Amino acid sequence: MCSLNTFLSRIYPLIGYHNSDVGTEHLAETLTTDAYGRHVKEVRFRLGGPNPFKLIYRAPEEVATVGAGQEPLTAEQILALTRMFVELGADHFLIACPVISGSIDVPQLVGRMKALSGVNKVTLTTMGTDLAPAIESLKAAGLDEIHVNLDTLRTGRYTKVTGTSLLPQALQGLDCAFSSGIPVKINMVVMNGVNADELGEFHALAKEHDSEVRFIELVPFSQDSWKSDATVKWSDTKADLESLVPLVPLPAEDHGELLKFHTPGEPGIVTFVRSLSESFCSTCDRVRVKADGRIQSCQFSKPDARVRDALIAGKPESDITLLLRETLAEKPQCRPELLHLQEMIKERA
Ligand code: SF4
Repeated sequence: MCSLNTFLSRIYPLIGYHNSDVGTEHLAETLTTDAYGRHVKEVRFRLGGPNPFKLIYRAPEEVATVGAGQEPLTAEQILALTRMFVELGADHFLIACPVISGSIDVPQLVGRMKALSGVNKVTLTTMGTDLAPAIESLKAAGLDEIHVNLDTLRTGRYTKVTGTSLLPQALQGLDCAFSSGIPVKINMVVMNGVNADELGEFHALAKEHDSEVRFIELVPFSQDSWKSDATVKWSDTKADLESLVPLVPLPAEDHGELLKFHTPGEPGIVTFVRSLSESFCSTCDRVRVKADGRIQSCQFSKPDARVRDALIAGKPESDITLLLRETLAEKPQCRPELLHLQEMIKERA
């Protein structure tokens, strides 16, 4: 299996993409959009800390959130970056941490983020295994939404998918989240030969708790043949689920690019996330911040350390904001390697 960077370096020239194609000249004209006129609205902070999960569909280069010799950002640094992103137009902040109990007090971070002017929504994405003891503090902090990554409801499969035997804790955490009144979404990556036969159970879970389950297409980030074979197109997932329950689309204006459905007369929402089969790069408003503060303007681009380094060096916020703008200006137009991967899937069909 080749590394992601090697893989990208092979693919970019094939489709005529060059990083140098994207200049920063437009910065003088518009300082809050990237080179393709897109605004940043949503920023995802990955926290450092323990991660006992070794998800079978994550390549090692995706999992590494802290570069060699680097430290995770502190809560103060995350809040400073949040203020700068707000200045650039972002208003939705996602905190991603597999487990909550790390060096940062997550409920406190949520509360401080929510207190910042311009922050409209704070979402937490987690595996849910230590959600139970934290749920009341998260609610008190004003958390707007919880996303629980849960790919299977079967004990043996959970161990295979995550490398842990923490399914009981994950289900307990999910239960507490449902009871808390905070809106909950369950993220399930659908995989052939692993969990694609559990769609009905996840639909039932969403119905029981009047919640939302999101069936996500697996993106085979590397050329690992297992990952390509495991990919299920959203339309196949939908057809499989429709063989069990009727689905009616929800009005599109509520959810833009996402495909949301419900079963008439029943609570719960089913969403199909077309991570692989559709590209929404032209309207992408998302940016990621790695645990060590490197900025990833696109999930497929190389993390950029300029902002992090300035932050650690204690530069004035106005200087760092300018660096942030420069970093965002270099966001790629699209994800070239995905186009290649789509071809691979088509050829296999
Ligand atoms: S591939 Fe990059 S630009 Fe496209 S939608 Fe994903 S993050 Fe945005």
